[in-house]
Amino acid sequence: MTDPHASEEVTPSPGRGATPPTADHLFAMDPASLSPEGVAKLRDALRASQEALSRQDEQLRETRAALAETRERFADLYECAPIGFLSLDAAGGIVAANRQAAAMLGHTPETLPGQPFSRFVARADQPCLRALRDRAGRTGERQTAGIRLLRPDQTGRYVEIAATPAGRPTGPDTGRGLHIALSDLPPRRESEEALRLADGILETGPAFLLRFAVSGEEPGPVEYVSANIDRFGFSREKLISGALLPRELVHADDLPKVEAALRENAVAGNDACILDYRLRTGDGQTRYVTDHARLLRDAFGRVNAVQSLVLDVTDSALARQDLETVLDSAPIPIVKVRVTPHGDRILEYQNPAAARLFGEAALGKSCKAYLCKKETCPALSADSGVVRDRECAVTTLRGERVMYKTAHKLPDGSGIIEAMVDVTELMRTRQNLTRAMEAAEAANKAKSEFLATMSHEIRTPINGIMGMTELALQTDLTGEQREYLDLARQSALSLLDIVNDILDFSRIEAGRVELSAAPFSPRRMLGRCLRLFDTLAARHGNTLSLSVHPDVPETLIGDAGRLGQVVANLVSNGLKFTRNGDVRLCVEPDTQNEILCADPSDTPPGNRVSLLFSVIDTGIGIPAAKQDRIFEPFTQLDGSLTRGVGGTGLGLSICNNLVALMGGRLWLSSRPGKGSTFYFTTVCRKKSGAARQRPETTTARAPLPALSILLVEDNCINQLVGKRLLERRGHGVTAVDSGAAALALLAKRSFDCVLMDVEMPELNGLEALARLRDPACYGERADTPVVALTAHAVRGYREKMLAAGFDDYVSKPIDMRQLEAALRRALARPRRRGGGAGA
Ligand code: ADP
Repeated sequence: MTDPHASEEVTPSPGRGATPPTADHLFAMDPASLSPEGVAKLRDALRASQEALSRQDEQLRETRAALAETRERFADLYECAPIGFLSLDAAGGIVAANRQAAAMLGHTPETLPGQPFSRFVARADQPCLRALRDRAGRTGERQTAGIRLLRPDQTGRYVEIAATPAGRPTGPDTGRGLHIALSDLPPRRESEEALRLADGILETGPAFLLRFAVSGEEPGPVEYVSANIDRFGFSREKLISGALLPRELVHADDLPKVEAALRENAVAGNDACILDYRLRTGDGQTRYVTDHARLLRDAFGRVNAVQSLVLDVTDSALARQDLETVLDSAPIPIVKVRVTPHGDRILEYQNPAAARLFGEAALGKSCKAYLCKKETCPALSADSGVVRDRECAVTTLRGERVMYKTAHKLPDGSGIIEAMVDVTELMRTRQNLTRAMEAAEAANKAKSEFLATMSHEIRTPINGIMGMTELALQTDLTGEQREYLDLARQSALSLLDIVNDILDFSRIEAGRVELSAAPFSPRRMLGRCLRLFDTLAARHGNTLSLSVHPDVPETLIGDAGRLGQVVANLVSNGLKFTRNGDVRLCVEPDTQNEILCADPSDTPPGNRVSLLFSVIDTGIGIPAAKQDRIFEPFTQLDGSLTRGVGGTGLGLSICNNLVALMGGRLWLSSRPGKGSTFYFTTVCRKKSGAARQRPETTTARAPLPALSILLVEDNCINQLVGKRLLERRGHGVTAVDSGAAALALLAKRSFDCVLMDVEMPELNGLEALARLRDPACYGERADTPVVALTAHAVRGYREKMLAAGFDDYVSKPIDMRQLEAALRRALARPRRRGGGAGA
């Protein structure tokens, strides 16, 4: 088919003009109308055109081959690219995917088309995917984001998604398809930065950081470990390279516990937990750690990594172990009580000793009912938070017990630590002891009272015997009568010694002996003491001598009476056990003992002097084996011998105690048949310039003037003895037998002095004196000097009498020298209201 219009337009008539027809004109012309020249030209044109067509054909073939090759190359590139490519339709369905994309999504390229892409994106990242698609569709530009992919095998993958819109939207509301490229995300820069920071912080700290992957509940390789791990004895390289697995760090004994705890926390959905366990370091050491573990989870909530901050607590763990050992082995119950916000007190911990006491079941229970029965805990309310040695009744498995408790409030007030000691038996023993002590005290008091009474009761008749004997001895007698009376007097004196010894011993036993401290002349005191034994010495044919070293001070301060008592006892023993021999008393300063001896009065060493006394006899001696025994009370070595010389066996025991009280000691050396030497030391104070000696010198020797004396004595024998003894010394004596009679007489007349027996029936001496001292009744006579006369020889009695208002005190049996001295002192005492005594 031809086109006439076209030929008219483009085909010029060969006959009209000089322009030769082109090939196109020739092809458009009817070949029959062509001239031979035209035909030849047409033939040439056809040939040229055929050649051109062949060339074009060739080019086309080449182009097609190149195209096929290019497509193949791109298809390979697309298929084998390490990046996942996906094409999505406008609804988000997958149209095509390369192999990598299929692998990333856990599929094959064939199974993916038709599936929505969102199915493969973690639920948490769905909003991110939607936003990405919106942005791409809106802007028409490539958009990127990081999302987590999910795969059918439940594993996840963190990828970067780049989405480019495909084609044009078909309408304003219709979406566009997307071309998507997926590539695995490299580790984030900020994470690296953070890890570097963590490394720096942990460098010198007591903790390391470790992160390891978990797949299928099995701990995997280490993903990160802080650089300081080497300090804990582990190789970082080995951990990073996988040569050392995290579980291999844990002590074999603790591994099951740690893995079980991680599993439990993973299942329970916990994101963090704290684990205490031990590490076994490369060099074989054991370290105690507290692991603050974070459980990192994937989009399905499964733990895919564990990040541990492992804190080395070895020091505190060992200290805690030590404490636990102490608590476990402590024999006393120790508990910890927790205070709840409601104020209840719960037993939180008990050591084994406490568990034995309260039972294991007590743990976790309120301890108000048994441990502390108070509503308010004393330790909680105490300012110091500490209550010590509180005695409490506690309910235990063994019933009610008494505990000494020490309670400490914890600094934050959250609890109390209590330690206790069971003192039930102790309390019982204490109660029994107290009762026994009270009974003993009562018995002792009764004994003292008995002794005082006995002393009084015995002294009174002795007083009578001695007084009467004395009086009888002053009458005209035959030699025989005089001898008998003398013996009677000696016996009375011995009896008095025995009474004195027993009194002394019981006082020492009761610790009631107190030493006085007054100035005295040791030479004079010892001379006087020995003179008392002249008769005894003569009777046994012994010589008695005294030697005092010149260095012994002239005056000393101490208890001269007690010192004299010890000397008298030892001298008396020496004389008793020696016949026709010598007894010597030597006194010298004891420089050696001066420093060693304890001075009960705490006198400075420079102000005291230690004396060594030796009582040497040439008597029967004492066998070595028996020397220790003689200091025991009531011990006499040879009954047959001592029977002849008397004694109670108390003398040395009393001396020993008195010497100890005076800061010295008593010992002996003796050989049977050769004699004995008794040594003792004593500490006295040296007299300083100001100290005054007792004024007993000149006045003691001056005879008393004749006095008018009222003697008040209920015992008629003693009354007679006293009256006669005083009358023989020139005094005028009026005797009455009661306090009432004395007062009645004193109301009528005056006396120079009254000698008043203290122990009298009805109105006793103390009451009579109290009444007499009332000037309203007795005027000036109220000030009459009154000397107490008593058979009570108990120490302290004198002070008691002086305090009661007596002017002096004399014990019975009456020693006339003592009585005269007492009368002299009483008369010399200044009268209270200036009124003097006088008939
Ligand atoms: P007593 O008061 O009975 O003498 P002592 O306690 O003073 O008691 O003495 C106890 C005993 O020690 C005496 O009975 C005697 O056996 C012995 N004894 C004491 N002094 C001497 C001595 N100088 N020579 C021998 N024996 C002595």
